[in-house]
Amino acid sequence: MDFKSQNKNITNLLKFINQCGGSNKLEIAENIMVSPAALTKISKKLLGDNILVEKKYIDENNRKKNLLVINYERFYSMGVLIEENFTKVILTNLKNDILGELKFKNNYNGDFDEYLKALLEFIEKLAKENKVLPEKILGVGVVVTNEFIVKKSLDLFKEDRFLTLKKSIMDKFSGYVFVETEIRAEALYEAFLAPEYKDFFLVKYGEKRGSAIIIDNKLVNPAISHYRSMGTRHFIVEPNSDVYCEICKKKGCFDTMVSPKNIFEEILKENNYSTRIVDMYKNMSFEEFIKRAESGEITECKALRKVARYIAILMINHNNLLPLDTFLLSGRVFKSSLFLSYLKMYLQEFQLGEVHEKLIVLDKHVFREELVASFLPINYIFYNYHFQDNLEE
Ligand SMILES: [Zn+2]
Repeated sequence: MDFKSQNKNITNLLKFINQCGGSNKLEIAENIMVSPAALTKISKKLLGDNILVEKKYIDENNRKKNLLVINYERFYSMGVLIEENFTKVILTNLKNDILGELKFKNNYNGDFDEYLKALLEFIEKLAKENKVLPEKILGVGVVVTNEFIVKKSLDLFKEDRFLTLKKSIMDKFSGYVFVETEIRAEALYEAFLAPEYKDFFLVKYGEKRGSAIIIDNKLVNPAISHYRSMGTRHFIVEPNSDVYCEICKKKGCFDTMVSPKNIFEEILKENNYSTRIVDMYKNMSFEEFIKRAESGEITECKALRKVARYIAILMINHNNLLPLDTFLLSGRVFKSSLFLSYLKMYLQEFQLGEVHEKLIVLDKHVFREELVASFLPINYIFYNYHFQDNLEE
C-alpha cells in the first residue's frame, strides 16, 4: 500500500483550510491555484463525505457568505509513544487535539506477545472510554523512541515483529498502522506545522538524538540498513573508532559517537578512570556539561567540539546527496553560541560556502511528543485523502 497523495488538490485544500481555520471558495481557489469549476467539484465531494462542512456567516458588508471548515470530529486518530519505561496511548480528533490518554508501564521482560496484548487492550480501552467506534479511527501511529530501542527492546522489536504488531492492531481496527522512530515522526510534524521549510534536514541533539530528512513535505526513506523498517539509518562519522553500536552493529556511527554516554566514557578513559574524575562525571547532567563548556572548561569544550565536528560531517554528507535548503537544529546545545560557532567552523572547514548559512535553530517545541504519533495517520490518511471503506457509512 502506497500512501502518496490521492489527489494533490484535495491535500492542498485541506491543508489550506486547516491553516486558516476556514475559508470561502474564492479564497481557496486563489490559494491552491485551481479553477473555480475544479474547486466546486472537489468541495462537493468533500461536503458529501462530511469531511468539510459549510458555515454561514455575514461579512462586514452585510453580505451572506459561506465558509468551508473541516469537520475535525469526522474521524479520530490513535497515537502510541513507546518510551523506555512507559507506553503512552492518546486519542485525538483530526485537528490532533487530545481527547483522551492512557499510560502503562512496559514491564514485560522482553516478552513481545505480552507487550502486544497489553498494548491492544489499552488502545481498545481508550476508544471505549471515549465512546469512539473502531471504524471511526483512521489509524494508529506508533512511535518508538531511541531510549526504548537501545535499552529494552533489541529483541522485543526485531524487524518481523513490527509486522506482527501492525497486523494485530489492524485486525482489531479497520484503520492502518504506521510505525516510525521518534525523530522521523517529529520531522514530519514539523514539516506540517511549519510549511515554510520545504526540504530540510532535521538534527536533534540533547536528551534525545537523531536526524531525519524531509523533501517536498515527505519523509525520505533511509538507505538499506538492518533496521530499515524502523527508519534507523546510522551514518559512519568516525571510521577509526573502536566502539560498536548496539543498534546498527557498526563502528563509529553518528548515533554512538555523539551519545553523552560515549562522551563521558571517553573523558574517563583519557583520565585513566581516576576516582576524582569518575566522581565528578558520575552524576553530571548534559545541561551541566554544556554550562561547564560555556564557562571555559577545557575538557568540556574539547568534547563539544567533537560533537560539533560529527554533526558537521553528517550535515555535509547529506547536503551532497540531496537538495536541502534548510538545516533545522533542535535541542538545548544549539542555543549555545559557543557550540554553534564550533559547528559553523567545521562546516566551513569541510565545505566552502552555503551550508553554514542554511542553519535554523528551532525553538523548543510547544507540542507534546505523543502528538507526533497520532499525527502519522492524520498525515497519511486524512491529508492524503486515503480513505477506504470507512467513508461509506
Ligand atoms: Zn549505530
